[in-house]
Amino acid sequence: MNKLYVLNHKMNLQYEELEIYLKKLNELSTKNQIILSPSTLYLDYCRKNTKYHLCAQNAYYQEKGAYTGEVSFKQLKSLNIKYAIIGHSERRNIFKESDEIINEKVKSCIQNGIIPIICIGESKEERNNNNHLTKIEKQITSSLEQTTPKEVIIAYEPIWSIGTGTIPEKEELTQMIEHIHNILTTNYNIEFKILYGGSVDDTNIEQILKINYIDGVLIGGASLKIDVLKNIINK
Ligand code: PEP
Repeated sequence: MNKLYVLNHKMNLQYEELEIYLKKLNELSTKNQIILSPSTLYLDYCRKNTKYHLCAQNAYYQEKGAYTGEVSFKQLKSLNIKYAIIGHSERRNIFKESDEIINEKVKSCIQNGIIPIICIGESKEERNNNNHLTKIEKQITSSLEQTTPKEVIIAYEPIWSIGTGTIPEKEELTQMIEHIHNILTTNYNIEFKILYGGSVDDTNIEQILKINYIDGVLIGGASLKIDVLKNIINK
């Protein structure tokens, strides 16, 4: 089955670098689905210069008004942006986004017809204390509270794996993805996909995609290296 690859550029690439990157990305071919998530600044440029669906890395839940520096989901919708990452651990930790804020963002995202890519993940300490499964369940239920989405994408990104070069053991990942799958099928009547994110590269992609119920990956650092990306997206 075709897989989904979400490319999270985070706050990387200067404009000239993006121009070069996009030309190379457009030349890649794959039967799989690619969703590009550049810096917000470049969404409009990418919209005009690539065939891929686009994803915002963040947005604010109010529709408009005196929120200096923010961009709303409604504004994203006006650019035809199809997806938005919500609740990335960098937003939760650096920008102190709470479960309540993330829930508001999911609501606004859905109201504007944008498919949310909701990031969840435990810290190393939570895993060591055996709190990882409950943490994940709480993150899913709180993010989807009082919402009726048709479709969501859940990205499981253990915090200890993001940017570290370490990915979960096969058994750890299998258990967690099954847990997420069970929560979603038991409690919600929605179409969903489950992604894995955290240090994905061309050396580990095959083993990750073998795990049952994984529909694709969210790629950070490796998405910026076209040569590595080329190897990843054809697996
Ligand atoms: C991410 O931050 O979403 C991510 C997956 O990063 P990396 O691939 O660099 O670990």
